[in-house]
Amino acid sequence: MRKLCHCGQKMSLDFRVLIFGGVIEIDRVPIFECEQCSHYEVLPAVKTDLLALLGELKDSDEQGLVLFNEVNELADVMFSIFRTWNQTESPSFEVILEQKCKERINLLLDVYGCAKEMNDRHWMDDISKRLSQISDFVNYSQFSGAN
Ligand SMILES: [Zn+2]
Repeated sequence: MRKLCHCGQKMSLDFRVLIFGGVIEIDRVPIFECEQCSHYEVLPAVKTDLLALLGELKDSDEQGLVLFNEVNELADVMFSIFRTWNQTESPSFEVILEQKCKERINLLLDVYGCAKEMNDRHWMDDISKRLSQISDFVNYSQFSGAN
């Protein structure tokens, strides 16, 4: 999964801890990092969600470490592949990611069915949010331009 840096070099996917205001730490945030200069940027597909999370954390005065993959489904799928993925192996990261995203969507739909059966509104809302995080990514198919 690659992107070009403003310096012209390739950027590759990585995960890192981001610290905001010296008190809020969010770990396992997917980023693109340049191999040449040390420039990095947060993966565009999770940026909105990351900012929303940051706003919530600021409001709640919560301090300490948050694992981003626990609140964002796309980051979670990516992180689980990233940990075990070997760059020299095929299929490519994008191919595995697309397949795993589809599996995760199916799983979430099943869970949503359970929540609905139990009439658990809070749970249904949580699953809906998780579904949109991942299905937006799949629908707008960032896979196609990621080579
Ligand atoms: Zn660069």
